[in-house]
Amino acid sequence: MSEKICPICNKALKLRESGYPMGSAFLKADRVHVDIYECPVCHKIELFAAETDMVTCPKCGSLHSPKEACAVCALNAALDEANK
Ligand SMILES: [Zn+2]
Ligand SMILES: [Zn+2]
Repeated sequence: MSEKICPICNKALKLRESGYPMGSAFLKADRVHVDIYECPVCHKIELFAAETDMVTCPKCGSLHSPKEACAVCALNAALDEANK
């Protein structure tokens, strides 16, 4: 992993959150995972595309972060429940 540098004060950014899911679980195509970095000096927040390896759901084949459950399957399960 390459070091992220604050563009304002040239200090190394600290990783706050990795593989953070952005966007709605209902809009699969718009779902993106980011690494959130913060400058320890000026507290500027920088977002980078997540470097964590995405996993493929064995049930529906969609990509998601290994840190979270598959949103598509969770949604399908909720819909199945509603249709009972
Ligand atoms: Zn800074
Ligand atoms: Zn799935």
